Amino acid sequence: MKKEYYEVLGVSRTATKDEIKKAYRKLALQFHPDKNPDNKDAEEHFKEVNEAYEVLSNDDKRRRYDQFGHAGVGSSAASGGGGQYGGGASDLNDIFSAFNDMFSGGKSRGGGSPFGFEEAFGGGGRRGRASSGIPGTDLKIRLKLTLEEIAKGVEKTLKIKKQVTCPECNGSGSKSGATENCQTCHGSGEVRQASKTMFGQFVNIAACPTCGGEGRIIKDRCTSCYGEGIKLGEVTVKVTVPSGVEDGNYLTLRGQGNSGPRGGVAGDLLVVIEEIPHELFSRHGDDVVYSLAVSFPDLVLGTKVEVPTLDGAVKLTIPPSTQPETMLRIAGHGIGHLRGSSRGDQYVKVNVYVPKDLSHQDKELLKDLKKSSGISPTAHNDKDAKGFFEKARDIFS
Ligand SMILES: [Zn+2]
Ligand SMILES: [Zn+2]
Repeated sequence: MKKEYYEVLGVSRTATKDEIKKAYRKLALQFHPDKNPDNKDAEEHFKEVNEAYEVLSNDDKRRRYDQFGHAGVGSSAASGGGGQYGGGASDLNDIFSAFNDMFSGGKSRGGGSPFGFEEAFGGGGRRGRASSGIPGTDLKIRLKLTLEEIAKGVEKTLKIKKQVTCPECNGSGSKSGATENCQTCHGSGEVRQASKTMFGQFVNIAACPTCGGEGRIIKDRCTSCYGEGIKLGEVTVKVTVPSGVEDGNYLTLRGQGNSGPRGGVAGDLLVVIEEIPHELFSRHGDDVVYSLAVSFPDLVLGTKVEVPTLDGAVKLTIPPSTQPETMLRIAGHGIGHLRGSSRGDQYVKVNVYVPKDLSHQDKELLKDLKKSSGISPTAHNDKDAKGFFEKARDIFS
């Protein structure tokens, strides 16, 4: 089972942003790979701490996490492992860039931030993403699930059309893999344009139009992908959906979106859950409700019936004198909770069956029954009925 993010950072669930930041900073420094070379344990801890911080430092993600647990923030462990959609931080490069952002605080390096990254580690050589190219875009797909699948969780294999890395050139966009410095920007990826105005001279910095900001131009373009390094392809993706998800929830599969042009990091794949309405059951949170029509004699005398559940038919006892609209509970046959292993319940809403076509003989039987003193609601033989009549008088008078 995956550790609670709050536990990972050692803070309470009501911790303020400042407390979370402080706790993160302390742990991140303690477990940072530069301080723990070749220590796999420390690296795992470092990743764990960063993943927790990424979620808890973001109001929106924290709210989702509080509500849905790890699954709410697209984390792997809610599905029981596998790590195929690593939570926030499966890629160390991602972590370092987030880490650097935090420690440099967007201010002048080493100066404005209370704790410069460089100060702590002596020259952060890992600043920024290591990969080249342009990042791939995120993909969003809808996944329709039956209530049965949602109740127990399900593993789905999806076929997805997306931009994949070109197999001919391995994503480089070049037949031989050779590139050369861009002539326009001399490899910087940026162009500067000075403009003079009455307020003085302004310098605009924009992405180089020749190389698209990459700084390098490929030689001998790959003919299969026209130098893009990506092309349309089809892949199969396995998704493990935890039980208890709801319409509109989504799972984030890190790095399973579109591949990036010329070796750029792939985007994410967002799997949006769509719940197919069930023909027998209505869902209320993690409970389901089933409506059952029962004959008047069975309601009075009690009976045993078979009712459908999400797990197949189950025997249900209708106790004697069951009133219409009674909710009978079948424990544990509802939807599996998103957090934890238990399940919600099924409720059977009992209604009285009123036949429309009766034989002459049945009608005579009912007429006979009607003559019996205990069969009709009157003020003196039924307390509930009395209450009902009083209420009705209040309303209609
Ligand atoms: Zn290619
Ligand atoms: Zn350029």
